[in-house]
Amino acid sequence: MPIRAVSLDLDDTLWPVLPALIEAEHCVDRWLKQHHPDVASAWPIEAMRELREKVARENTHLSHDFSEQRRLTIRHAFAACGIHDAPVDELWRIYFAARNNVELYPDTLPALDRIASRMPLVSISNGNADLEVIGLHTYFHTRLNASGVGVAKPHPQIFLAAADALGIAPQDILHVGDDPLLDVVGARDAGMRTVWLNRTGERWSHGPAPDLEFPDMTALADWIDAASAAGR
Ligand SMILES: [Mg+2]
Repeated sequence: MPIRAVSLDLDDTLWPVLPALIEAEHCVDRWLKQHHPDVASAWPIEAMRELREKVARENTHLSHDFSEQRRLTIRHAFAACGIHDAPVDELWRIYFAARNNVELYPDTLPALDRIASRMPLVSISNGNADLEVIGLHTYFHTRLNASGVGVAKPHPQIFLAAADALGIAPQDILHVGDDPLLDVVGARDAGMRTVWLNRTGERWSHGPAPDLEFPDMTALADWIDAASAAGR
């Protein structure tokens, strides 16, 4: 059966996420140093990161909602300093803006142009990237994330939500992502066809191989062009 739609992971598939996350932590830290120096000195970046991990471990009901984890972390950090009306919204805005100030991989935009001209695209992310803030939303038919759907990848439900939104059967959708478990194993379990976007040249060591493996989005767009021409 020909591929009729593509679902795409975002972080580390369309842009490297770590530089944006690190910069977002620094933006929060700079704001704290300026407005709440006591909180800043009690919670330097590394300590704040450990606190967030502790919050995540202790609140498994938020495992699909990184945004709420971060807001809760801010509340805990301020409460530990005796401040119970933490400026959660302001700090969240600062974090969110920096987290979405991503630098696309050079192959991303040309490939999105080519693929979106052939078939609908859906985004499926566990993170809190916002395609509208980033400026890529016009390429996507539907944008799904774990906090909105209520479960995170690799749960099949988030992939099936994409199929539902498109009105296309999972087996006619190609899911593309960098994470072997979250993207490839998850999408396969939901009945989709799978692409491992392996930008770092790693070896596959996670059970049955993905249907396809590409080093970048250009190679994916090339394959889709060829498959469309061949009626695959
Ligand atoms: Mg990813």
